[in-house]
Amino acid sequence: MNMKNTRIGHNRPKSIKILGKTYAVSWQTPPREQGEPDYLGRCYNDTNHIYVEPKMPQDQILDTLLHEITHAVSAQLSLDLDEPTVHRRATGLAAVILDNPGLFRQ
Ligand SMILES: [Zn+2]
Repeated sequence: MNMKNTRIGHNRPKSIKILGKTYAVSWQTPPREQGEPDYLGRCYNDTNHIYVEPKMPQDQILDTLLHEITHAVSAQLSLDLDEPTVHRRATGLAAVILDNPGLFRQ
């Protein structure tokens, strides 16, 4: 996948509006509770906060950000998506965005 022409590659927003709620985005290693594995991203729907590990290739950052946004959309719309579904949906959307770099350009 080629991130050269994809805006997210050099645009790291501090917040994202998701269905009317503003989620803060922290570009830092996600918090980890004792006994948990390392996560590349986390979405806290109680505090509207998304974390994304910044030390990754740009395509992985896009995938991870879309993954956490999908968790937020799932919560807001009461979709109750399970983890594998969130993962597949985000990875699929990331691939389409990367394969069509001008798709969302204004
Ligand atoms: Zn997840």
